[in-house]
Amino acid sequence: NLNCVIIGASHAGANCAMELRKQGWQGNIYLIDTDAHLPYHRPPLSKEYLSIEEEGATNFKPLFALERYQEEEITLQLGLKVTKVIKKLKSVILSNGETIRYDKLVIATGASAIVPPIEGIESCRKVSVLRSAKDAIQIQQDFKTSTNKEVVIIGGGYIGLETAASLRKLGGNITVLEREERILARVAPIALADYFQELHTANGVKIHTVTSAIKIKETDATIEIQCNNGNVFTADVLIVGTGVKPNTFVAEEIGAEINNGIKVDENLQTTVEDVYAIGDVAQFYHPTYKEWMRLESVQNAVDQAKIVASNIVGNTQNYNTIPWFWSDQYHVKLQMVGLSKGFTRMVIRTEADKKNCFSIWYFKNDALIAVDAVNNGKAFVLGGKFIQNKILVDPLKIADNTIPFKPNNF
Ligand code: FAD
Repeated sequence: NLNCVIIGASHAGANCAMELRKQGWQGNIYLIDTDAHLPYHRPPLSKEYLSIEEEGATNFKPLFALERYQEEEITLQLGLKVTKVIKKLKSVILSNGETIRYDKLVIATGASAIVPPIEGIESCRKVSVLRSAKDAIQIQQDFKTSTNKEVVIIGGGYIGLETAASLRKLGGNITVLEREERILARVAPIALADYFQELHTANGVKIHTVTSAIKIKETDATIEIQCNNGNVFTADVLIVGTGVKPNTFVAEEIGAEINNGIKVDENLQTTVEDVYAIGDVAQFYHPTYKEWMRLESVQNAVDQAKIVASNIVGNTQNYNTIPWFWSDQYHVKLQMVGLSKGFTRMVIRTEADKKNCFSIWYFKNDALIAVDAVNNGKAFVLGGKFIQNKILVDPLKIADNTIPFKPNNF
């Protein structure tokens, strides 16, 4: 019997296992993860999970019920790390010493949170990142047992801002420190960043831009954060949300090509035969955007899981999906489709009589390349269709909110 071994049982890995069965893989499937929790959705960790009142909750939303893995005869091995891959023997070695031979290997090891090299950070007990269920439990516990509910978050990206919104809902006094001149500098254009800056300020979160933490000192009760501009903040809880790095270790060991992620071809195969990489860890060439990229999103992980499964069972398929992403902060749902990088024209459409409902449309020359929709599902869906089908739309008509969102109106 053939063996498919999948390293990493999160959005990419768990979906890949299910898809393999759906697409007719008859062999064994081993799904291995260091994390001991039944594989769960990560986006709610910074959203719903952190804003629940209940103490000590561990109700993480499973990707699939345990019975599904049993029904599909997927061997789920949780709480175990793949410590080594031996290319010559086509085998992986687990932290309990077990060896599993593979015919096909899928690396879905995702990414880990970066802890920036700030003096004193390593020895500070109350510093958390937010990537896993364990991290979320830790933050919740530290927050709920703290006296003053003073939280400092280093990093004004999506994870930092969602965490700010969630803990603010629970009455936290939240300060966000951002090194760049604005929040969301790496991931969103100015217009959108400004909107979120105002949203947080209106909700009582203090955001300090051009502010880098340079030294951290912990006393029994609090943490002191010293910054490059002389500002000093104190916190009960310190959370770091400064980005992630891909977990490429196992691929490096077998000599697969790495460049900000594991390089894969259009079939999601690495430079090593029978070894594939998907999800946050994979660096791929996007045929529509004509660029190498590594995406950090559920959509990318799930879609690549489907494509890799078909390639493994022999129905060759290339990956060319338009990326999409979302973020929830307070009452605001942001949905983004496409990639706005390199846009030459931007059009903002507000909706008459609807507060907090607008969309930003990005064009590169004449082509629509991305839409950011704030509380506006219609703009997100329609924009996605236009981009996917390469439909030319008139920016002036888009900006005119008397024209309803219907496919043939633009
Ligand atoms: P990961 O989820 O990183 O999983 C990789 C798994 O591999 C981990 O479980 C890890 O334990 C395991 N692993 C690594 N190395 C080994 C090894 N050697 N042996 C065994 N196991 C190993 N995306 C969105 O689209 N929308 C959102 O709103 C959103 N919000 C988010 C909020 C938070 C708090 C976080 C953390 C992420 C969010 N994301 C969001 C991003 C999204 O969760 C990731 O893009 C997605 O999880 C990527 O899935 P993955 O399977 O590629 O990697």
